Amino acid sequence: MDDTAANLHAVLDDIALAAREAGRAPGDIGLVAVSKTHDAAWIRPVLQAGQRLFGENRVQEAAGKWPGLREEFPDIRLHLIGPLQTNKVRQALELFDVIETVDRPKLAREIAKEGQKAGRAPDCFIQVNTGAEPQKAGVMPEDADVFIEICRKDLELPVKGLMCIPPIEEEPSLHFALLREIAHRNGLTELSMGMSSDYQVAIAFGATLVRVGTAIFGARQLYTKER
Ligand SMILES: *Cc1c(COP(=O)(O)O)cnc(C)c1O
Repeated sequence: MDDTAANLHAVLDDIALAAREAGRAPGDIGLVAVSKTHDAAWIRPVLQAGQRLFGENRVQEAAGKWPGLREEFPDIRLHLIGPLQTNKVRQALELFDVIETVDRPKLAREIAKEGQKAGRAPDCFIQVNTGAEPQKAGVMPEDADVFIEICRKDLELPVKGLMCIPPIEEEPSLHFALLREIAHRNGLTELSMGMSSDYQVAIAFGATLVRVGTAIFGARQLYTKER
């Protein structure tokens, strides 16, 4: 798989098809092209094909390639989709337009604080651990309402919606439905859910952002975890 521009168009076609099957407008679903582990030279053809919305899961890695790409393509929008440590919040705010992984009060407070200093709070998504997996990031579903309230009312963060990563071995639709329910009862309209293996299902369940890596960029190099 080395024709990433063709892959991009195939994914966009699939998104449009899934949207129409769900009775939705294709334009209501944004594609976050997940470029983690791939270098700038591998990403550039996808930019040249018109894609502007990208996701990365590590601050350090994003710092190495996106400032240069932004000079070439100033209208890029970059989402952080991986866990964020509080000591990297300042750097994350310089690099990312949207933080999709806000999942605990300490992190939310730090984003609010640094956002105030910078005069620009990033758009935020609350990550929900819909499968209540001990090793996974995200606020537990039963704590989500209170946490969302803290972020919006106390910290005045621009919370746009919710994000989840379902357990690998489970039927994702149950998790997508749960995320949608939590968003709905909190008056949130954006849902970031669905990856290469299940974005069509996520669209049927109301995803407004799908995060697709492998289906566009091909297989990733394995790398050791940062933390
Ligand atoms: C890597 C990653 C994706 C993309 O996964 P693919 O299966 O390659 O599409 C989506 N969301 C998150 C949070 C990721 O870390």
